[in-house]
Amino acid sequence: MTSDRTLNNGALVLFSGGQDSAVCLAWALSRYDRVETVGFDYGQRHIVEMGARLRVRAGFEALFPDWAARLGEDHVLDLRGFGAVAESALTADRAIEMTDRGLPSTFVPGRNLVFLTYAAALADRRGLGALIGGMCETDYSGYPDCRRDTIDAMQQALNLGMEQTFTIETPLMRLTKAETWGLAKALGGEALVELIVEESHTCYRGERGERHPWGHGCGHCPACELRAAGWSAWTAAGRPETAP
Ligand code: ZN
Repeated sequence: MTSDRTLNNGALVLFSGGQDSAVCLAWALSRYDRVETVGFDYGQRHIVEMGARLRVRAGFEALFPDWAARLGEDHVLDLRGFGAVAESALTADRAIEMTDRGLPSTFVPGRNLVFLTYAAALADRRGLGALIGGMCETDYSGYPDCRRDTIDAMQQALNLGMEQTFTIETPLMRLTKAETWGLAKALGGEALVELIVEESHTCYRGERGERHPWGHGCGHCPACELRAAGWSAWTAAGRPETAP
C-alpha cells in the first residue's frame, strides 16, 4: 500500500525556541516554499522554553516579510508520557553531571528518535517533505541520537515504515557553535543575530537571568557555557558569516 499523501516542497522544523532551532528555522525559510514548526511538551521543567518559541516566531514575522509569507502553522505536541519514562535532568529536578555511561545527565534516552517519529507523522498529514532539526555532532558528541549516522538510519526507518520520501535535514550537523552564529548572520544579517540573542532560550536551568552579550541564561550550566563560548569565539574572529 502506498501512502495517499503527496509531499510538497514544504518543511517542518523541530523548533524548541533555542538558538540552534531558530537558525534552522531561518535556514528552512530561505529554501522552502512553506515552513511549519513543531514543538514538544515532554514535561520540561521550564515553561520558559515555550514562551521563547512564540517570541522567536513573532520576531521572524516582524523582521522578515519574505519569510513571514512562508511561515505557516505552529504545532505543539504533548509528549509528557515520554518525559515520564525518560526522566532525566531536563525533565526532573536532578543535577547536571556526567553519568557512569559517559553521557551528560541532560541526555534523554531516544529523545530525538521520538521527536522525529512524531514530526514525521505530523509532516505526513501536512504534506511536508522535509524534516529539519538542529542536531549537531560537533559540540555534543556525547549525544548518540544527534549523530548523522543515527539520523540517516531514522530517515530510512521512517520512509520504510510510513511509505514516504521524507528527507531529514540537519544544517548544523558539522558546525561549531561559533559557526552557527555565523550562519545566522549569513541568513538574516545582524537583525537575526540580535533576535536570537534576545529571544531564543538555551539555558538548561530555564533561567532568563541577566542579559549577557550572548543572551539570557544562568551563565553556568553546560548549555549556557557552550552558547557563551561559541559567541566569544565568533566575536573574537570578527563575526564572520558561515555559508549556508
Ligand atoms: Zn544556564
